[in-house]
Amino acid sequence: MSDYYNVLGVTKSASSEEIKKAYRKSALQHHPDKNQGNPDSEKKFKEISEAYEVLSDEKKKQIYDQYGADALKGGMGGGGHPGGFSSMEEALRTFMGAFGGGGGGGGQETIFDSFFGFDSRSSESAEQQGASKRMNLSLTFEEAMTGVEKEATLTNLAKCQTCHGSGATSSAGIKKCTRCGGQGQIHQSRGFFSMATLCPQCSGKGKVIADPCKDCHGAGRVKQKQKVNIKVPAGVDSGMRLKLSGYGDDGESGGPKGDLYVYITVEPHKIFQRDGDDLHLELPISFTEAALGAKKEIPTALGGTCRVNIPEGTQSGKMLRVKNEGCPNVHGQGQGDLLIKIMVETPVDLNEKQKSLLSQFAELENESNSPRKQSFLDKLKVFFSK
Ligand SMILES: [Zn+2]
Ligand SMILES: [Zn+2]
Repeated sequence: MSDYYNVLGVTKSASSEEIKKAYRKSALQHHPDKNQGNPDSEKKFKEISEAYEVLSDEKKKQIYDQYGADALKGGMGGGGHPGGFSSMEEALRTFMGAFGGGGGGGGQETIFDSFFGFDSRSSESAEQQGASKRMNLSLTFEEAMTGVEKEATLTNLAKCQTCHGSGATSSAGIKKCTRCGGQGQIHQSRGFFSMATLCPQCSGKGKVIADPCKDCHGAGRVKQKQKVNIKVPAGVDSGMRLKLSGYGDDGESGGPKGDLYVYITVEPHKIFQRDGDDLHLELPISFTEAALGAKKEIPTALGGTCRVNIPEGTQSGKMLRVKNEGCPNVHGQGQGDLLIKIMVETPVDLNEKQKSLLSQFAELENESNSPRKQSFLDKLKVFFSK
């Protein structure tokens, strides 16, 4: 009998994702819906489904890798038909299990779509959670620092109040689907095989509505505007996401509500840069302030000020740290620090008097006024004396 890996056209090291992909491609090609009465396709479809059934199951795969297909026969095809499932139903069940109802659609894409509010799910009889929504929220730097409350208006699918979600005007208007007898599925015979497909008359719901509600036209849900108050905690940053449980669509057939995800963007600030909970600030000072020392009033992120003492003889590039004047921690765990980088500015645009005073100062300058310059000159001397 053929090797399961060969059957799916994957290597032994293939990931579960790759195995699923390979199966999907092959199964869509040989699906009985597309190959009616073709015995070769039927055989192939059963074969790849059996291979997938084993390779997609971590336990079965391990047994198969170690002992081969014979070790699995008891639990698989019953009679143990080598080279495929014994019945088409088994093969179709595997296929349905992997990709959900219809046949062509992929389960994963659906999950992705409904997450972002595009309700593309095919309706099934079971109750379903409503779709979750996302929205973007842009905040000023100050709003992110202090926290803020924002109101937003959402348009959600909410349970129709007229029919209480049933979709019908009266309870007598909900009739069991005649095509499938309320099963939601119909069984078709094809040669030896019987297969189940979604009932086209009721789309799998098992019931049809004879007198649709005039407000929701039988859907059971209507679009409804809803105001939501979003409490943004202090300390949020760009890229963070808030979850508001139950602010998505109402569920179908009494299923739970979806959620709302709020994606935060914070506008950059003119003078503060954020680094986690710490804030950075570049502070330009004049060279006399740097030489003589100065006291400065610095704005803080929360709208206050703090006093910073710049000591005599401060060099350009020096970092001063002010404890607990940074950004509030978004989880309420204290506050970061404010880090001030000193930038000493060389004076420009001097007038005659200033120039003359600086010249006098230059005459009085000595080696100990510029220790770094002096040490550099000393190194040069050693270099030239060699
Ligand atoms: Zn039906
Ligand atoms: Zn209604």
